[in-house]
Amino acid sequence: MGVISDNVIRLLSTIPREVTVVAAAKAKTADEILEAIEAGISIIGENYLQESREILAQVGKRAQWHFIGRMQSNKVKHIVPLFDMIETVDSSDLARMIDQHARQHDKIMPVLIAVNSAQEPQKSGVLPDNVIPLMHQMSVLPNLRVLGLMTMGPFLEDPEGLRPYFRLTKALFDEIRTARIPNVEMRYLSMGMSDSYPIAIEEGANMVRIGTKIFGLR
Ligand SMILES: *Cc1c(COP(=O)(O)O)cnc(C)c1O
Repeated sequence: MGVISDNVIRLLSTIPREVTVVAAAKAKTADEILEAIEAGISIIGENYLQESREILAQVGKRAQWHFIGRMQSNKVKHIVPLFDMIETVDSSDLARMIDQHARQHDKIMPVLIAVNSAQEPQKSGVLPDNVIPLMHQMSVLPNLRVLGLMTMGPFLEDPEGLRPYFRLTKALFDEIRTARIPNVEMRYLSMGMSDSYPIAIEEGANMVRIGTKIFGLR
């Protein structure tokens, strides 16, 4: 057994069963990803279209694929057919494009809305106040299915500092769930990475995106 399988087995033993683990695999090879899958990972997160095309061709349907990178509109048409979920939708324009391309592929595309929970001006993601209006706009798109929220939070030395942003995103998640918007199902709350996933789970995450703790430092 290699280091990656050891890491996966150790990590999965610390994460509650109801929490879904996405292995964030940027810059990882197909062999590294296959080792993680063999050890128990079932979802791979990819940030870059170009990279993920090659990896997907090699690894294929042995895992599910989540797009977790920044969405660029010129990439949408390639991302939609390749991925099982897009976690980073942050505008109604993108949502409409995803819906159109999903229709061409006879597919209902599961998506999460990326929330800019710390309201950082330079970051992608929807400001918290704009999430519910965007949900309403997305709820009329027949080939797109909103299944929850994701957030990154700011880069901080101490992951404890992320707690307020995780808490705010969970409150928004609960508020939307209660609002019962048609065609919107609040199933996944994706937050927490290698340093912060225990805190994110305490604050209500049921999906975590973990890279370094699985694959090691780049
Ligand atoms: C790289 C990445 C992660 C994982 O980060 P680690 O700190 O390596 O666990 C999670 N989410 C996104 C969007 C990423 O780009």
